Amino acid sequence: MKTNLRILTLATALCVGLFTATAADKDGHNHKATPKGGRLLDKTEPHAEFVVEKDRSVSINFYSEDMKPVAATTQTVTVIADAKSGKETLQFEKKGDSLVSKTKLPDGEGYNVVVQFKQTAEAKPLNLRFKLDMHTCGECKRAEYACTCDH
Ligand SMILES: [Zn+2]
Repeated sequence: MKTNLRILTLATALCVGLFTATAADKDGHNHKATPKGGRLLDKTEPHAEFVVEKDRSVSINFYSEDMKPVAATTQTVTVIADAKSGKETLQFEKKGDSLVSKTKLPDGEGYNVVVQFKQTAEAKPLNLRFKLDMHTCGECKRAEYACTCDH
């Protein structure tokens, strides 16, 4: 019984080790998989996850270093969607532990979005720009904007 437990612990440790090795890549991009299938926003602490919901609203969820959900505190977020129909700004409000957009993303995809992220009201805003690509990646089965593969 004791031996079995030890093997199990070893196996778990190995798995965690493997996961960490995959997440740390060379090109500086963060490919860590987020629990809700969204995109991990670089340089955010706690980790912020950008998720496009089915109704095209946007949620920002927060996670500790070991990817356990934590509540939003002083963070504020604005999303600017540079859609073909024109630029649209999404404002966010706190809902439960997350920040949720008050309006929805414009129709279509393939346009650029800028996430303006502020850790506190006084903090310098962080501008995170990426393309909103909603296609499902064939490899990781996540939406391309949240893809965790090296391509
Ligand atoms: Zn992928």
